[in-house]
Amino acid sequence: MELVRKALDAGMVREDDTAFVLYDLDLLERRLGDVVAAFGPQALAAAAVKANPLPPVLAFLAGLGAGAEAASLPEIHLALEAGVAPARIVFDSPAKTVEELRLALARGIRVNADNFEELARLGELAATLGIAPRAGLRVNPQVGLGRIRATSVAGAYSKFGVPVTQREAILAAFARHPWLDGLHVHIGSQGCPLDLLVAGVGAVYDLAGEIDRRLGGRRVRCFDFGGGLPVAYRDTDAPPTPETYAAALAVRCPELFSGRFRLVTEFGRFLHAPCAVAASRVEYVKRQIGHRTAVLHLGADMFVRECYNPRNWPHRTRALTPDGREKGGRAYSWHLAGPLCFSGDFPVWRAKLPELAPGDLVVVEDVGAYTLAMWSRYNSRQMPRILAARGGRFTVLRERETPADVVRFWRGAADAPTGGE
Ligand SMILES: *Cc1c(COP(=O)(O)O)cnc(C)c1O
Repeated sequence: MELVRKALDAGMVREDDTAFVLYDLDLLERRLGDVVAAFGPQALAAAAVKANPLPPVLAFLAGLGAGAEAASLPEIHLALEAGVAPARIVFDSPAKTVEELRLALARGIRVNADNFEELARLGELAATLGIAPRAGLRVNPQVGLGRIRATSVAGAYSKFGVPVTQREAILAAFARHPWLDGLHVHIGSQGCPLDLLVAGVGAVYDLAGEIDRRLGGRRVRCFDFGGGLPVAYRDTDAPPTPETYAAALAVRCPELFSGRFRLVTEFGRFLHAPCAVAASRVEYVKRQIGHRTAVLHLGADMFVRECYNPRNWPHRTRALTPDGREKGGRAYSWHLAGPLCFSGDFPVWRAKLPELAPGDLVVVEDVGAYTLAMWSRYNSRQMPRILAARGGRFTVLRERETPADVVRFWRGAADAPTGGE
């Protein structure tokens, strides 16, 4: 909480900043360093854009040598504009359009095809444009679901990828498309224990071996094992580190790190989640018998998953005085209510915090991934000021939206048609 106080002392939070988000870029650099140390400097560390699409953060990661995993046309553009070299972008999505595939081909962006139809489409486009695709095939290892169904993608059924049981069809696809040179697997995001992650990668690793044996030579040159490394949201969580994940993979998949494959990782949550806190002023405190409610300026606009599925998405919280000192004293159970007009708007329900008063700050920890990235326009609130700390200095990564910004969002492009006669 030291950084929050320093940001306040440095005058980075103005009177009308009812809430703000603060990124610790030094920590982000260390987390990327952990990934590079575990999987090797040769592996492409493609950061999942969907976890945190803030352009200055993407540019910061690009400057440290990271790549980007994009899953939509705008995510590709976000990565390109942040200075990620096209060769360091991987494009995943289950709904890639002709337009998107054409851009990927033209720019030399690696594509992980989700299905056989997409592979065929990619092959036709490539033939027309006279460009050899850089492509892998996403395979669902079907090793089972993690703790959180909505973010698990390796069950017997998934909307993603080709089931690993369709072995002959996968082999036929590799035989048909000589440019197809990779396999891609992603098991889930948060809630997947180490064993499940390793089993999923292992199943696809075995498939790679079989493809090479049956088709002869080295057909699988690129192995992309996705993201999914979980993080701690509670003091009792003890997630694996990149180091322990890599060690477990090396046991299950002996040749994975031998230099035989070009490796790609696509971590999002692991890199970003612990690197930011969100802080909100307490606007009002409401008391009812058996209930203490603090009304905050961040709710389901920033904490979509937390509000709709609080059991799976807990956060640690802290209480600070208006000038940023940690509050002490006896802890009570607080409902932290957001500002939106619906009754499920509680980023944290039953936070253990000391006595709160209007003007205090409530800090929500571990918000660097999948919070701001899922910002909702419901109730048309202004996205808060986004700050960053780097080497003891503070900068504004994104200014607080003005009411005019929000009006402009809903109005749409200036040259939008105004209706027919
Ligand atoms: C979401 C996603 C990721 C990132 O997952 P994390 O849990 O944030 O590491 C990586 N690859 C694919 C294909 C994804 O869908």
